[in-house]
Amino acid sequence: MPQSVDFFEALVTAYPCDADHAPLLEDPVHARVARAEDVVDGDLILAAVDWNGADYFNDQYTAHREPYDPTCQCGVCCHLADEPGLVVLLSNGHPWETCDPWPANALVLIVPARRLPVLAPPRAESL
Ligand SMILES: [Zn+2]
Repeated sequence: MPQSVDFFEALVTAYPCDADHAPLLEDPVHARVARAEDVVDGDLILAAVDWNGADYFNDQYTAHREPYDPTCQCGVCCHLADEPGLVVLLSNGHPWETCDPWPANALVLIVPARRLPVLAPPRAESL
């Protein structure tokens, strides 16, 4: 049975001098992996993530969630029409002219629009 898993903040680039990864390095503390279903409007989408690592997009983009329509004629939505699980639309017409459908359980590297709270380090007497 699938279970939800919360991921901790992580720095995921091993290429600190690669220009494609530079946007992440501007704010690496806030980058995190999320399920596509959990991406919300305003999240900055940086990469697709799987067990092989992160596949960075040439252009990061901001999520604009909209309902997924498998009968949409954009030319991309139809490719996920037979997806066995839920499909979500992370963007529609921005930055591309087509939709941006993802399987709901796919992993996405994002900088969340709503930042996680910064936790104070544990106090010495509690260690
Ligand atoms: Zn579409």
